[in-house]
Amino acid sequence: MKLDHIGVAVRDLEASLKAYETLGLTVAHREHVERDQVEVAFVPFEGGRFELLKPDAETSPVGKFLAKRGEGIHHVALTVEDIQAEVERLKASGVRMIDASPRAGAEGTLVAFIHPAATGGVLVELVQRPEGAERHV
Ligand code: ZN
Repeated sequence: MKLDHIGVAVRDLEASLKAYETLGLTVAHREHVERDQVEVAFVPFEGGRFELLKPDAETSPVGKFLAKRGEGIHHVALTVEDIQAEVERLKASGVRMIDASPRAGAEGTLVAFIHPAATGGVLVELVQRPEGAERHV
């Protein structure tokens, strides 16, 4: 498994992007993920990238996270070669999953979230990149 990205919940995407640009980083890709009701912006750094997440509504999962915990790290995403096999393996090992099977994520990826109860309070996202595709950043 390799680090793919660190998900960060933000209230104001433009203001947050500005802050990251001040650090010397540049946004590489933006996308609206309908299913998760979020606007995402990927900001690469050496060895990984931030995924800034701005919820569409307070009732969305990231909106609820912001209301409860405020801005900050929301999840850590790791790449896997075969997400279907990985999810099956984890379930067979008794690991509590949020997603019982892989589903569509940003950039044509397949993703599955592991429940934070299984990982010391950290929400972990497994990501399988599209076949043969280089990531955008
Ligand atoms: Zn993510």
